[in-house]
Amino acid sequence: SNLTPAELLKRLEQEDVHFLRLQFTDILGTTKNVEVPRSQFQKALNGDVTFDGSAVEGFTRVEESDMLLSPDLRTFLIYPQFSREEGERGRVARLICDVTLPDGTPFEGDPRQVLRRQVLRARNLGFEMFVGTEPEFFLFERTTDGRGTTVTHDKAGYFDLAPIDKGERIRREIVNKLLHMGFDIEAAHHEVAPGQHEIDFRYAPALETADRIATFKFVVKRVALEYGLLASFLPKPIAGISGSGMHCHLSLFKDGVNAFADSSGEHGLSPTAMQFIAGLLEHAGGMTAITNPLVNSYKRLVPGFEAPVNVAWSTSNRSALIRIPAKRGASTRAEVRMPDPSCNPYLALAVMLAAGLDGIEQDMEPAPAIQRNIFKMTVREKRHHRVRELPTDLREALEELAKDDVIAGALGDHVMTHFVAAKRSEWQDYNSTIHAWELDRYLDLI
Ligand code: GLU
Ligand code: MG
Ligand code: MG
Repeated sequence: SNLTPAELLKRLEQEDVHFLRLQFTDILGTTKNVEVPRSQFQKALNGDVTFDGSAVEGFTRVEESDMLLSPDLRTFLIYPQFSREEGERGRVARLICDVTLPDGTPFEGDPRQVLRRQVLRARNLGFEMFVGTEPEFFLFERTTDGRGTTVTHDKAGYFDLAPIDKGERIRREIVNKLLHMGFDIEAAHHEVAPGQHEIDFRYAPALETADRIATFKFVVKRVALEYGLLASFLPKPIAGISGSGMHCHLSLFKDGVNAFADSSGEHGLSPTAMQFIAGLLEHAGGMTAITNPLVNSYKRLVPGFEAPVNVAWSTSNRSALIRIPAKRGASTRAEVRMPDPSCNPYLALAVMLAAGLDGIEQDMEPAPAIQRNIFKMTVREKRHHRVRELPTDLREALEELAKDDVIAGALGDHVMTHFVAAKRSEWQDYNSTIHAWELDRYLDLI
């Protein structure tokens, strides 16, 4: 919808909305919001609501702390009622905002701005990137006093039906809420592991998809809470079973036509698709710290659980980093399998787009597609096929990011500096902690 501020103000009145949440995302991917009551709606829609940027992780220095929230009116939606008490307080709507400096210039450290810059770069080449995502998550039991556990809520497996899948009812409730909020849901199903679920949403322009991922996580957690459960997007909550990924299906469109499709090309792919894939492969190592930002993310990227370990592409097997699903024509797309749902969606889509565009601009050519199971290849075979490995931990990923000028450039100095500093300190903290594993393994023995 393309409402003007005046039209939106009227709508807020008609719909009896009592609170407006102005949302934005910080560098580490946490959704922040400033909630304003009715008396402030006019001011909010004019983009005159300020907040203290120095209070937000990685945002700004204290001496320039006033920042403005400039709402993107296309993101307007009214939240469904999640609980009865909530209904009594009055309806709540939200707008996702761009963050600007007091003089109105976009703030370069705003992740949404980072994605906007790449979307613009694509447009200058005549392209629009569309993205569909498949976020996976677990539903866990809570203790009687409300703390989260890693006890899964059911014992079901992939695509199982009720009554084994007790999560089904909750998942359906999540989908209902999302539909109510205008989401286009393609599918929802139980995933491989007990307690693990996936909800897929239809492809949309990159910025819209990033906005939706942010909202999606909030809704999933909120509905689960209502049922006394914990919804977690932690990439690998339990060792030895599947982790949770967030595969991203990317395609470029030019003049309304899928620019990856070419029935006369090899694998039915266009030269643009090949260059884009080559760019993604070239920058895979540099992107990983952004698409897989937690210490825990790297415990998912291990062989045996359909998560990628090797930098390669394939038109068939799921062991590769990039898979080209069978559909061609308007559905032709590259499925990037490494991202996990703990990433900042704006930054993750921005670096993938930047990598692919670099492939186009540099006219890169990918190594040949690999149709065999890469996990079964020897080291020599991998070398022969030019198959590299993804970073194996956060420290290595940060090193690769620092070496990749294209990815660092896409993030911009502000985000790059703050992201790397925050993540280095996270790694330091992890590394200096004595974990239960060490004591179990060594304490008695040594
Ligand atoms: N859970 C797997 C992952 O970590 C993906 C399973 C699938 O192919 O959907 O990426
Ligand atoms: Mg899945
Ligand atoms: Mg997938």
